[in-house]
Amino acid sequence: MHYQGNSLEQHWMPFTANRAFKAEPRLIRRAEGTYLFNQNGDRIIDGSSGLFCSPAGHCHPKIIEAVHEQMKVNTYTAPFGLGHDGSFALAAEVAKLTPEAINHVFFVNSGSEAVDTALKIAMAYNNARGQAYRNRFVSRERAYHGVNIGGVSLSGMVKNRETFPLVMPNVVLMRHTWTGEDLFCAGQPDNGGELAEDLQRICDTYGGGQIAAVIVEPVAGSTGVLVPPKGYLERIREICDAQGIVLIFDEVITGFGRMGENFAAQTFGVTPDIMTMAKALTNGSIPMGAVAVKDEIYDAVIDSSPDGAIEFFHGYTYSGHPAACAAGNAMMGLIAEEGLFERSKALAPYFHEAVMSLKDHPLVRDIRAIGLIAGVEVHPYPAPGARGTAMQRDMFWGGLHVKFTGDVGILAPQFIAEPEHVDEMIGKFRTVLDAHD
Ligand code: PLP
Repeated sequence: MHYQGNSLEQHWMPFTANRAFKAEPRLIRRAEGTYLFNQNGDRIIDGSSGLFCSPAGHCHPKIIEAVHEQMKVNTYTAPFGLGHDGSFALAAEVAKLTPEAINHVFFVNSGSEAVDTALKIAMAYNNARGQAYRNRFVSRERAYHGVNIGGVSLSGMVKNRETFPLVMPNVVLMRHTWTGEDLFCAGQPDNGGELAEDLQRICDTYGGGQIAAVIVEPVAGSTGVLVPPKGYLERIREICDAQGIVLIFDEVITGFGRMGENFAAQTFGVTPDIMTMAKALTNGSIPMGAVAVKDEIYDAVIDSSPDGAIEFFHGYTYSGHPAACAAGNAMMGLIAEEGLFERSKALAPYFHEAVMSLKDHPLVRDIRAIGLIAGVEVHPYPAPGARGTAMQRDMFWGGLHVKFTGDVGILAPQFIAEPEHVDEMIGKFRTVLDAHD
């Protein structure tokens, strides 16, 4: 359990400044509910639900128990051609939460895998309906769709793609939706809905009939919380319908109550054809992701193969792993028993008011909030990202965990958080802002 001296060296840490971390490690030894405890025993409030994945609180006893019980009886089932009860039960529960027309669920192990799987499902569907010539994907500037080659190809974040020149060709990006006209906005901005016309322009330029799928995060999360302007998602849906294009919502962050409803699809009243999810599916306790699709897509792919043949040549050794399914099924129980989504919805107005109180601070450039997520953007100094990195470190030592992307601190309280937890997060955030002023 304990690292000694240079034993930190061997682990090449993901999305981490390895040298800086190893010179000043930030280790979590224990977590409980809304709090993390570091190597010094300091209590740290979790302001970002880990990485937006633990809304029910850390170390929930019901999830621990469910995984433990599962691991006593079956630690692994080969998922190709064999099944176990847990994955069917979980798919049925997830399908109850997704929009009405979306009732088929494919399990994977992460958000990145969910994105790559969604792209392959879109291709398989186009193939099944005799439109395999659709060879172009449309994504968006500032998009984050994970780190696999498919997701990086769709990425609109420069650091995530500039080192990797050999990505998928034929990806076109729409503009992002932050216009700068609705600063300090809680809820959907009034301006920017017309940016959906970028998709129409792409259709007019390349031919809408050539586009395999359009993928958007309903709220662009990792880039710093860009909320869709009013009318934007509706118009994207309308254009996809007119052109017969598959619409994918990447709900890896927005899914499972973060926006107040089950998924952002319901919050914004726009139903995609395919949706990706991960993170809160197991409360972050065991890696798992999923792709849910409209019945029409499932039926087309399944029916296009001869009876008895494998219909979709895709899957992972750990798809629908028994431990992950046990955690997922326990989480589905908690959503109902603890009214997690209702709690998320009820806390959001308080959270918005609290986070917007940071507006008066001279370091703060913009704040964007919706549901239980908010991006607090600080003016860059002395170089883009430098202040954000330093603030994140200082927050940790000041007892607050916040995920930063560049100069945007992304606050996303757990659904079990109480108003006083929000106050603690905002108070500690302000203390660090003051220290950097
Ligand atoms: N898609 C979105 C919208 C995400 O926010 C993320 C992660 O934050 C991913 C995909 C990738 O998920 P993972 O890190 O589990 O691969």
